[in-house]
Amino acid sequence: MTTEEIRTYGYIKVHKPDHPFADKQGYIFEHRIVMEEYLSKIYKKRILLSPALQIHHKNRKRNDNRISNLELVTPQQHAQRHRKYIIRVCYICNSYKSYIHKKTGNELWRIHNNKHVCYKCFITLKL
Ligand SMILES: [Zn+2]
Ligand SMILES: [Zn+2]
Repeated sequence: MTTEEIRTYGYIKVHKPDHPFADKQGYIFEHRIVMEEYLSKIYKKRILLSPALQIHHKNRKRNDNRISNLELVTPQQHAQRHRKYIIRVCYICNSYKSYIHKKTGNELWRIHNNKHVCYKCFITLKL
């Protein structure tokens, strides 16, 4: 890997002009390279990630490309990973948390007057 790198939106790109999925300037996201090298080692052959697959940074740090922080996901799975972390605030009690559905792990929020209401306020105030 070359030491030359550029940063886009907090992500690290590395210069790999020979890579089949490099952009026109010869750059590719480092997290994709890290995942490809990891998988290539496991399968003992060169693995190229399909451009249809995405990499999720588990700890939300876009420049933390340790393999333990990376997760290979489909675009649908990726959207799911991020949905949980949308910051919502209850406009009544200012809580950042709401009731978490035991089976799905999703936080339950309600909309009232076009604003977010936590589940507790929703139930206790009978909105
Ligand atoms: Zn992500
Ligand atoms: Zn509330």
